[in-house]
Amino acid sequence: MSVSFAIGAATDVGRLREVNQDSFLATDGLAVVADGMGGHRGGEVASAIAVTTLRQSFGEATIDSLTAGVAEANGDIRARSVAEPDLHGMGTTLCALAIIEDKGVEKLAIVNVGDSRAYVLLDSRLHQITEDHSLVEALVREGRLTREEADTHPQRNIVTRALGAADSVEVDQFLIEPMAQARFLLCSDGLFNEVGDKDIADLLGSIADPSRAAQTLVEAANEEGGRDNITAVVIDVHSDVETGDEAEPTPEVPVVATTEQIAAKPRWAETTELDAGVDGGSSGDDVDEASGASSGAERRRWWRSAT
Ligand code: MG
Repeated sequence: MSVSFAIGAATDVGRLREVNQDSFLATDGLAVVADGMGGHRGGEVASAIAVTTLRQSFGEATIDSLTAGVAEANGDIRARSVAEPDLHGMGTTLCALAIIEDKGVEKLAIVNVGDSRAYVLLDSRLHQITEDHSLVEALVREGRLTREEADTHPQRNIVTRALGAADSVEVDQFLIEPMAQARFLLCSDGLFNEVGDKDIADLLGSIADPSRAAQTLVEAANEEGGRDNITAVVIDVHSDVETGDEAEPTPEVPVVATTEQIAAKPRWAETTELDAGVDGGSSGDDVDEASGASSGAERRRWWRSAT
């Protein structure tokens, strides 16, 4: 089996911010979006370190290599923020999609920290794969906010996990069986806070070229206000999956299989704690370590119940 990416990316500062603190990587085999936070140059430096370190350390194309790269990026951000007082408290989200090898078989892996998102387009509908590590997401899970209230909540930018927030970081990871072809989207919150799922799905479904699709998504976010930096990475995954002696599969075949997998997430998604001992360290501007949802015990309970 051979799996490859056709990939397109776009980023923009948006209409209100002066600096673009988002960073991205778009290579065959590894796609990354990082949304930096912190004053001065902090946010842009943190997201750039995250992308650079992950690219350099992801050599083996295994899930362990990918998660180790995230931990290494966290360490690099911490070290830099200690060394340069101007950068103290900087942090970043990180969401990555990679082709990895698992017991000799190529698969897709997604890792996530924070509130950037990975989606997959199936049956012309957008399915969110990652779960936000944000204050409002925690409140929704506790039944204290509705999904609609969360979408417009004034504190929806507060994340409960970020690279750079502490000396260790808990990373969500998702393993996905490759389909014959599938379109994935990685993006920062500057996209999904401005453009609804339906509009994102319609754009992704109607523009074949991934670069043009990414650019159009960013333009749509700007048209809706562009109140934050906007980054979109569109990844078409091609895989020559074995189909046996059957006739050429229709596009619906892999779609149905994956829809079921997503509906029954515990069967295919894994969450691993690199280190539950998240403790100490200083907080970034938008990193809310005081939130109950950010304690190690809370996270473990949350994920046990989810799986
Ligand atoms: Mg943002």
